[in-house]
Amino acid sequence: MSKPERIQGVRGMNDVLPADEALWSRFEAAVASCMRAYGYQRIRTPIVEHTRLFVRGIGEVTDIVEKEMYSFTDSLNGEQLTLRPESTAGVVRSVIEHNLLYDGPKRLWYTGPMFRHERPQKGRYRQFHQVGAEAMGMPGPDADAEVILLCQRLWDDLGLTGVKLEINTLGQADERRAHRAALIAHFEANIDSLDEEARRRLHSNPLRILDTKNPAMQAVAESAPKLIDFLGEASLAHFEGLQALLRAQNIPARINPRLVRGLDYYNLSVFEWVADGLTLCGGGRYDPLIEMLGGRPAPACGFGIGVERVLELMRAQAVDLDTGGCDVYIVHQGEGVLEAAFQAAERLRDAGLDVILHGGGGGFKAQFKRADASGAFAAVVLGEDEVRAGQATVKWLREPAGAPGEGRQQRVALEALGSVITDALVAGDDTI
Ligand code: ATP
Ligand code: MG
Repeated sequence: MSKPERIQGVRGMNDVLPADEALWSRFEAAVASCMRAYGYQRIRTPIVEHTRLFVRGIGEVTDIVEKEMYSFTDSLNGEQLTLRPESTAGVVRSVIEHNLLYDGPKRLWYTGPMFRHERPQKGRYRQFHQVGAEAMGMPGPDADAEVILLCQRLWDDLGLTGVKLEINTLGQADERRAHRAALIAHFEANIDSLDEEARRRLHSNPLRILDTKNPAMQAVAESAPKLIDFLGEASLAHFEGLQALLRAQNIPARINPRLVRGLDYYNLSVFEWVADGLTLCGGGRYDPLIEMLGGRPAPACGFGIGVERVLELMRAQAVDLDTGGCDVYIVHQGEGVLEAAFQAAERLRDAGLDVILHGGGGGFKAQFKRADASGAFAAVVLGEDEVRAGQATVKWLREPAGAPGEGRQQRVALEALGSVITDALVAGDDTI
């Protein structure tokens, strides 16, 4: 028989291996605790939605809808479907569908995989993860400030430093219209400095040109008319209100006039958290969106965090991780011993301990090597001698203060096994 083909994972879609688990769980625990601290409730929406939800909910003239969506026709019923490239559209759909705003504002959060067909590179994948929060039904800058504070608390909880906040305001649609005319005039006067994409977007989405990453276009973007000069009193007051709340909480924010979302339904505040030149998180207000997707008008703001980028920063800054393994590793060998080993493992788990029962055979020596590598505090040894006597040997591998000492061992009756080990760990104040 010829060797079977080895099937590789899809390009840009990564496995998260057990070696990275401590990093992921540290992050996920901090997220869950921050969301709880601000009263945000988790919502889980499907990974697949109707394509038209994203076309309408993200906007036709965007990178995502123009060239990044994984869209397909369901061959069984002909429906046009898309793997979600982000979650706000799905969350808003769900909020409308289940009338979640019937009794006032809602604070929601989500996490999960998103899909965008981009060129894979550092911090950019085709399946990646986001964590997001959406504050719905609150029009004032207090909601914007709250979601920003939540992010700050998350960076602090994770022990991250150097994550910087940039903010801007997009005003309202009519204010943007006046700015847009000035913007188009500016870019037309400098048409030679525009790249092909910018020229294409000149009339469809000129605001987005400000967001260009093309080094050759930085000067023309920098000298463009600023939206803030076109804002009326109410928009300026909202922006001032946000800044005052941030100042009062000592959150430094740099105003970046080129920070934009090129979509018509974004309004007022936009913000990004940036570290080492990479954007970890993008957010802002999108008051018109709920109505645009068919719901009763309600204001909303929120953010999306790129999980892989935060994890990369945690790695770079060597954030403390709990890499602890199991509590007990059971080593066993001999005629009729396996059943007793199973029994002992279940007893220890009943006592609240995390137990690895050695699998795959091998002699005592090889098994002890595994026990050492497992990070367990104790190896429980079961051989024919022990089993005959209704006992086990406990061999202490690490040294919680209550244990008799590293390398020391003791014989313990099988019934007493759980309490002997938990007592030693509790006395040593080791978390079990
Ligand atoms: P960019 O301008 O970098 O493409 P974006 O505007 O498309 O970003 P958002 O849609 O605001 O990004 O998504 C929020 C966050 O999700 C980003 O700030 C980033 O951290 C992360 N993110 C976006 N796309 C990817 C991707 N392909 N791979 C990994 N993370 C991503
Ligand atoms: Mg993008």
